[in-house]
Amino acid sequence: MNRKVPDIKYTQLFINNEFVDSVNCKKFPTINPADGTIIAQISEGDKADVDKAVAAASQAFSRGSKWRNMDASARGKLMNKFADLIARDLEYIATLETLDNGKAYSNAIFDIECSIDTIRYYAGWCDKIFGDTIPADGNLVSFTRKEPVGVVGQIIPWNYPFLMLAWKWGPALATGCTIVLKPAEQTPLTALYAAALAKEAGFPPGVVNVITGYGPTAGAAIAEHSGIQKVAFTGSTEVGRLIMAASSKSNLKRVSLELGGKSPLVIFDDVDVKKAAEIAYNAIFANHGQNCCAGSRTFVHAKIYNQFVTYAKQLALETKVGDPFDSETQQGPQIDQEMFDKVLGLIKSGKEEGAVLETGGERQGNVGYFIKPTVFSNVTDNMRIAKEEIFGPVQSILKFEAMDEVIERANNTNYGLAAGVLSKDIDKALVFAQAVQAGSVWINCYDAITPQTPFGGFKQSGIGRELGAEGLEEYLETKTVSIKVPTRN
Ligand code: NAD
Repeated sequence: MNRKVPDIKYTQLFINNEFVDSVNCKKFPTINPADGTIIAQISEGDKADVDKAVAAASQAFSRGSKWRNMDASARGKLMNKFADLIARDLEYIATLETLDNGKAYSNAIFDIECSIDTIRYYAGWCDKIFGDTIPADGNLVSFTRKEPVGVVGQIIPWNYPFLMLAWKWGPALATGCTIVLKPAEQTPLTALYAAALAKEAGFPPGVVNVITGYGPTAGAAIAEHSGIQKVAFTGSTEVGRLIMAASSKSNLKRVSLELGGKSPLVIFDDVDVKKAAEIAYNAIFANHGQNCCAGSRTFVHAKIYNQFVTYAKQLALETKVGDPFDSETQQGPQIDQEMFDKVLGLIKSGKEEGAVLETGGERQGNVGYFIKPTVFSNVTDNMRIAKEEIFGPVQSILKFEAMDEVIERANNTNYGLAAGVLSKDIDKALVFAQAVQAGSVWINCYDAITPQTPFGGFKQSGIGRELGAEGLEEYLETKTVSIKVPTRN
């Protein structure tokens, strides 16, 4: 197989286990960010298609349906079968992902492997989700049942298209919900392929549905739909607000949000500076900086600041940027023209506001959306590059001197998704870990995200948690059942 030109098998909406055209028969192009060419024309779903998908998902969830009557352990087996099929087609899916998203092929392989792990982790939960028996007052025996919330809408972004699908489908399927998913318009291909694999695995019709299309149309129709009991969203804070408002105006559907970040990575002066620079490099440049928990504010202790900047610059300069299918490539293109312009605009603001450009700072080549890995030193807290989410390959290095000072500065943001701290002194690291306002804190590492550990944001980085046992709760309702008994012995 020529990795660069995978066969595109599915371009239509997936409703009730069938690929179908959208009601209005419209299509939209999905673009290869490495060269700006059209990969394929994809069915453009809208409200009428969301209505059809919700009807299918409601039918699949109805009392007495095959899905509702299935043993929980059988659900787990189906999920493991789905994971087996993803593993079987790992290379094909990674190729599709690299083509559509531009991420380096090795990164795409890693994403799909993590997706398999996530589906298997949640497969194991299916028959282990149980309530409590409760010593209630009076002559009562009380217990709780954990029930699936029902039809769920899931709206995901383009930066980890397949992995975000796995984070959403894992807990939804484990709890017995049915799904209407909208992938990002930039990256619809792997979600459609996942739908085909779900059918092949044997999920009954209507359990998973995929509506490709745009946010303000198909996405908004999901957020507003009164037949949907819960919506899970990953994307920008701005759209997260719209999702909450739509829930409030429609049926008060449950809402979980994974939004943006401006995560601090704090590096004390007792570290191996070269190793610290490598961790910081990966923290910001992974996935071309298009990472919600990117370590986008690198706070470095004054004593090691200059040495750190030298290493950071060297690592950025050594980065292989180019064809994402080349096995040497570490960084491919940004996702699209809009993000490319946004990142270059923020780089310009950094230069204008007085940060020192150590390396990069411009586009690479003149085809596709490539940006040179960029390092700014002498960044101060009030600069736009220290405050706004860049979502690109731009490292901002700030200087600090004391623990209290760096805690205050790290927390001086509306975001609170993640944070990191590097130090040989565990007391110091734990003081910071306890004080920082963030949903995940990584000590002497970064991006240590696993299927078992909950992930999500404090403050305006989100509501709710994904992954781990907590991730299941987002898809469950608790029902209390109380039985009157003659005596309470
Ligand atoms: P976006 O919010 O514009 O898009 C995300 C998804 O929402 C897409 O599927 C899009 O079609 C849909 N959408 C857009 N407008 C909508 C609307 N009005 N109603 C319903 N759905 C709508 O974000 P983006 O530009 O694709 O992604 C970049 C942003 O996402 C960054 O700010 C980043 O921090 C954030 N992000 C966060 C996480 C996380 O886990 N917290 C992960 C990835 C991206």
